[in-house]
Amino acid sequence: MRQSQLFTKSRREAPADEVSKNAQLLVRAGYVHKEMAGVYSYLPLGLRTLNKIVQIIREEMNAIGGQEMVMTALQDKDLWSRTDRWDDEKVDNWFKTSFKSGGETGLGITHEEPLTRIMTEHISSYRDLPVYAYQFQNKFRNELRAKSGIMRGKEFLMKDLYSFSKDEAEHDAFFVKAREAYLKVFTRLGIGDRTYVTFASGGIFSEFSEEFQTLSEAGEDTIYLDEKKGIAVNKEVCTDATLAKLGLEKEKLIEKKAIEVGNIFNLGTRFSEPLGLLYADETGAKKPVVMGSYGIGPTRLMGTIVEVLADEKGLVWPASVAPFAIHLVALGKDGDDISKTADALYADLSKTGVEVLYDDRDLRAGEKFAESDLLGIPTRIVVGKDAVATGMFEVVNRATGGVEKKSRADLLSCLLPPASCS
Ligand code: ATP
Ligand code: MG
Repeated sequence: MRQSQLFTKSRREAPADEVSKNAQLLVRAGYVHKEMAGVYSYLPLGLRTLNKIVQIIREEMNAIGGQEMVMTALQDKDLWSRTDRWDDEKVDNWFKTSFKSGGETGLGITHEEPLTRIMTEHISSYRDLPVYAYQFQNKFRNELRAKSGIMRGKEFLMKDLYSFSKDEAEHDAFFVKAREAYLKVFTRLGIGDRTYVTFASGGIFSEFSEEFQTLSEAGEDTIYLDEKKGIAVNKEVCTDATLAKLGLEKEKLIEKKAIEVGNIFNLGTRFSEPLGLLYADETGAKKPVVMGSYGIGPTRLMGTIVEVLADEKGLVWPASVAPFAIHLVALGKDGDDISKTADALYADLSKTGVEVLYDDRDLRAGEKFAESDLLGIPTRIVVGKDAVATGMFEVVNRATGGVEKKSRADLLSCLLPPASCS
């Protein structure tokens, strides 16, 4: 893509109304637009990154047998009343409104209820189980806190998967697989080295739920981490009794701030019983389906990657989620030799299938480099006077700042995907 065609503009100054690093940088770089506190639109660059995060999660959910679908945002009051989760006294973050024809509705905060009801039409026998279904869908929550930028939206994207199993054993086997799949997701997103399985409250049949917490000073959670074992306990459940159960020793734990990027729950029959999701076992006896829920926040993850990887110059994306693999920065003017060389290289690079953002605009070099640093594309190729004279192009690694010189032929051969030029 030619940058002259990109409608978004970056800005030099951080927006005055943003306190979090993720929102400041993403707004400055033109990745997102703030509509209201905790409500963000995703602009072309931001959407490219978000879609890559989504695709990585999708691949890992498909790999463990997940079937993708999508449910509605508008929710049925009667359904949620049956599980006692409609009342504002019980769930305090609904956005509710009413129909012109009468009756109330709410915007989905999560989707256990509607999916359980859908499954009553598709699951009736042990032969129909297990089932794993998931979606990427915007959730709406009337969140009070709004200091974390895109990490705590009032409208935000969630991947929610729900498992439907015959019994606890079948549930537990899948739970382990889901945990492994989540860890793979975080590794592919470049935050695997600082994301830990963390025991937390909220388990229904099991005692704990498991959160995935990414270490960061920007986190809203406090966890106690056993670095050697690679597991942690959320402060809210960190009692002597819990530690004993988990085989952890207080002296070996360190207190850390962390961001909850995902969590997985054993729901038992909390939803299947009230909503009548039963199956007939081998003997014909009716039993409630055992459920689990598995959430990840792609938008919170995008903010988390910014929080932990960005530097003083701007965003730094891992190759797996960068909006483009290459930022081709030309320092010429329309029609001069530099522009012609850059145009030709852009055409050649594009043929390899590598995603290139081509800065073909007529701006000062310093301005272009500062903006390139802000955008955070992993590899920058510079086309200036030197490149025209010598045929060697400067290749800059955004994350390390390392600089190399490469010929056109070298660039093209190392750029055949997966790109690994630095
Ligand atoms: P938190 O404790 O941070 O409020 P939660 O425990 O309510 O989150 P879940 O309901 O389990 O979160 O949601 C699953 C995932 O969705 C979370 O792990 C997180 O990644 C993401 N998520 C939850 N709330 C938000 C939000 N307000 N904005 C962005 N992402 C969110
Ligand atoms: Mg939580």
